Amino acid sequence: MSNSDSIRPTNFVRDIIQKDVNDNVHGGKVITRFPPEPNGYLHVGHAKSICLNFGLAEEFGGQCNLRFDDTNPGKEEQEFVDSIKEDVQWLGFQWSGEVRYASDYFDTFYAWAIHLIKNGKAYVCDLSPEQASEYRGWATQPGKDSPFRDRSVEENLDLFERMKNGELDEGACVLRAKVDMTSPNMNMRDPILYRIRKESHHQTGGKWCIYPSYDFAHGQEDAIEEITHSICTLEFQDHRPLYDWFLDNLPVPSRPHQYEFGRLNLSYTITSKRKLKQLVDEKVVAGWDDPRMPTVHGMRRRGFTARGIRNFCDGLPVAKSGGVVDVAQFEAAVRDDLNENAPRAMCVLDPVKVVISNMEEGAVEQMTAPAHPQREMGTHTMPFTREIYIDRADFSEDSSLSRKKFKRLVLGEWVRLRSAYVIKADEVIRDASGELQEIRASLVPGTVGINPPEGIKPRGVIHWVSATEGKQATIRLYDRLFLNEAPDATDEGFLKYVNPESLKVLEGCWIEPGLIDAQPEQSFQFEREGYFVADRFDHSAEHPTFNKTIGLRDTWASKTN
Ligand code: ATP
Ligand code: MG
Repeated sequence: MSNSDSIRPTNFVRDIIQKDVNDNVHGGKVITRFPPEPNGYLHVGHAKSICLNFGLAEEFGGQCNLRFDDTNPGKEEQEFVDSIKEDVQWLGFQWSGEVRYASDYFDTFYAWAIHLIKNGKAYVCDLSPEQASEYRGWATQPGKDSPFRDRSVEENLDLFERMKNGELDEGACVLRAKVDMTSPNMNMRDPILYRIRKESHHQTGGKWCIYPSYDFAHGQEDAIEEITHSICTLEFQDHRPLYDWFLDNLPVPSRPHQYEFGRLNLSYTITSKRKLKQLVDEKVVAGWDDPRMPTVHGMRRRGFTARGIRNFCDGLPVAKSGGVVDVAQFEAAVRDDLNENAPRAMCVLDPVKVVISNMEEGAVEQMTAPAHPQREMGTHTMPFTREIYIDRADFSEDSSLSRKKFKRLVLGEWVRLRSAYVIKADEVIRDASGELQEIRASLVPGTVGINPPEGIKPRGVIHWVSATEGKQATIRLYDRLFLNEAPDATDEGFLKYVNPESLKVLEGCWIEPGLIDAQPEQSFQFEREGYFVADRFDHSAEHPTFNKTIGLRDTWASKTN
């Protein structure tokens, strides 16, 4: 069974939604959301969250919002907003209505902060960050009340107004919720609601100089949008009591319920925007969309298909605990999709010339082959000429090599050229340094698509490209970016484990001429070599450029074991 036919495993979130729909909770409605912070590009972990949130909404005929959690002006940029929108759509999803921003609700958050102050549930606190952390205590030791906790409602309203008007300096004070400094849950110890930040914001410009904290904003955004099932990752489990406290104490229009699941962690992969940003900033990679990056942009440029990524995500468990998924499982999902959908073509990566002595100079014979061995995808035509290229690794002069081990061309023996003739290697030509320069061969007439006569036994089938009709191409070979299975977990830091051979650029490869018409982002299986994609930005008919997406099978497993 191929991946795309597989049935999605059920999970506890789907079960809860199914039950709520059956019981007509929320009037049978299902509204989910994907709430990224626009402080980096999305990665494969986000893809899981996108597939889950958009997928569940789709499945239950509901809606899924795309909402930017943009409460932190310092680290956020329009570039990230744009890239995230592009990624969600590329993965095949469409958000409900307009894109939303937490900053759309800043007026409401401000009004709700005043609501809390008026009810004696929030206060302006002048403790410095160091003092505040001392007063906060530790997990094992209760905190102490701030000396500013008992300010009057009037004083608090006045100070908060002055915070908003820019009359107070950054760091001078914060607005805190009055919850419980002795709570065993640190999140409940009078958390910060608002900070003074005299920074311009990518959506609201210079309108605000106070910004709500993530914790104050996040749950309320869900309530404003009447999210029915607020799905997030496990680290927010301990924040849920606080979000519920806000819902209890604010005039919110709805009460979303939060459900937490384990983050996706992949072996050999970093899934933290902060660390991915470090790879970009320190120029370890060429950018957020470097094909070695586990960002959606990077994977896309590498040739991972949206369908392959979705198939992988849909097949993952959604559990109450974390865990590490083998990156080979991800690669297999992508490979399965490409195997099913990528047309076949020929490319010689490390060319050596073969001159076919019994073929006329200047003659061109068109060979046709199906674009896909199993599916009806048309044919491709490859010109066959007197001079062709084959891969250096497909030839040997050593006739003692066993036929089982070396199913390629050997001097004095036969091999079949894929979709063309059976040829025999007659002679080798070397340059002055002794390096193999050219192979002289002869074709066996009448063997295109037909078995050769008795006594002629080709060792195998190899690929080839016409030396006179083919085109030259740049091929980029990619390997895993990290040599360590858990680069994130090492003491030395993940940068120590960057694979120095994760990128090899090959110039002067030869492709069948039809490939210059490949569209950027079009994927192919280059016969016997792997899956490749025409680069999204650099490929053109003049400079054909292909990226290796993945090999035909998992060679990494045999490398490490
Ligand atoms: P990072 O640690 O990479 O910065 P984040 O959680 O801070 O991730 P957000 O922009 O807040 O990034 O994430 C948006 C959504 O994606 C959140 O709902 C978050 O729970 C989810 N998400 C982020 N990382 C993962 C992951 N590895 N697996 C599953 N979901 C994730
Ligand atoms: Mg986050």
